[in-house]
Amino acid sequence: MPISLTDAKSAELFARARRVLPGGVNSPVRAMRAIGRDPLFVERARGVDLIDVDGNRFVDWVCSWGPLIHGHAHPDILAAVHHAAAAGTTFGAPTTAEVEIAEEIASRVPSVEMLRMTSSGTEASMSAIRLARAATGRDVIVKFAGHYHGHVDGLLADAGSGLATQGIPASAGVLASATAATVVVPWNDREAVERAFAEHEVAALVCEPYPGNMGLVPPADGFLAFLREATEAAGALLVFDEVISGFRVGPGGAQEREGVTPDLTVMGKILGGGLPAAAFGGSRELMERLAPLGDVYQAGTLSGNPLAVAAGLASLRMLDDDAYHRLHATTETLATGLREAAGDRPVQVVSVTGLVTVFFSATPVTDYDEAKACDTEAYSRWCRGLLARGVYAPPSQFEAMFVSLAHEPEHVTRTLEAAAAAFEAAW
Ligand SMILES: *Cc1c(COP(=O)(O)O)cnc(C)c1O
Repeated sequence: MPISLTDAKSAELFARARRVLPGGVNSPVRAMRAIGRDPLFVERARGVDLIDVDGNRFVDWVCSWGPLIHGHAHPDILAAVHHAAAAGTTFGAPTTAEVEIAEEIASRVPSVEMLRMTSSGTEASMSAIRLARAATGRDVIVKFAGHYHGHVDGLLADAGSGLATQGIPASAGVLASATAATVVVPWNDREAVERAFAEHEVAALVCEPYPGNMGLVPPADGFLAFLREATEAAGALLVFDEVISGFRVGPGGAQEREGVTPDLTVMGKILGGGLPAAAFGGSRELMERLAPLGDVYQAGTLSGNPLAVAAGLASLRMLDDDAYHRLHATTETLATGLREAAGDRPVQVVSVTGLVTVFFSATPVTDYDEAKACDTEAYSRWCRGLLARGVYAPPSQFEAMFVSLAHEPEHVTRTLEAAAAAFEAAW
């Protein structure tokens, strides 16, 4: 049965928030406008039990959009942060733990010999692009429609008119000149990639190897290997944005699972264990182009912040083979159960270890155009139906459910019961 959510405190907070924060939020998707409701104001959370300011409880499948692979407030992560904080919160000078986390990451991610930390995925992808341009002496970046790499000007681009032409700004305030060197092509479209390489001197092709920002749309068989060959043949760099997939789909991310090694890798989210940390990395030769050794400037006051590094290190150290087996099993139970709950309704349930998307589409989704063609109204009703039954799924069709190691069988069971009832009410 739907519970009736009480919302007196959140309504009052939202009214205050809207006076001092645009839309009442610090990042747009939180506003929940895509599903036609007001934001959830969170009081606290532990594991995957999330409680809002009005005392409503939810099973959390958003998990802060990816970082919380161990759920909220994991005791080991809290202890690591407390311990680090007691020794000082930031120095602007190197620390032992930064070396340890860099070694840990390099030992896991096949393409990474060296890395540079940043505080956000946006900074990391911006810096990786700068490095790729410096290393190749070329300008053009090829990206895929529906892939998100943070709010970097040049990557906030939509496909222009005509094929393989320069991108156009996807946001007001982005200069046409900032996206002029960006070419946007459809995901899973080999011909479009070939055309882009034929028509441009490409510095780098950047992609999410398991795209999660248009809902989860895995690569077609062999597509990542094709991208590796195409970039190599063109003398361009291949950049994998593994901010979501890194340390989630397996210990070494999508690149390890798929056996395709990019030149540069962008990482974030899980890497910071719930605190602000991200990184980009690659071969020693490429990374040594960065200042202070090389001529590519890159810096950050809080880069490698001790609290974020402590949280990230604690988070990574708990991610052993057993953890990935459990994560995979939970993901499959959820995905299979959602498929059963949907029955013969026009729904596609897509999953990879740690990620699940329920597309409201009668046919499989293979690119952004197909994702955009989903019945977003039905998704909204389904998502609101879940919330009313104590389940917090991403409040947008174009996102993924983030499975964590704190999701126990009882959370999956409760979710599937709620999902079945919410499907009933969605059409
Ligand atoms: C979240 C995300 C980013 C941006 O990271 P921020 O820390 O939000 O700046 C970049 N790429 C991908 C694939 C992401 O999911």
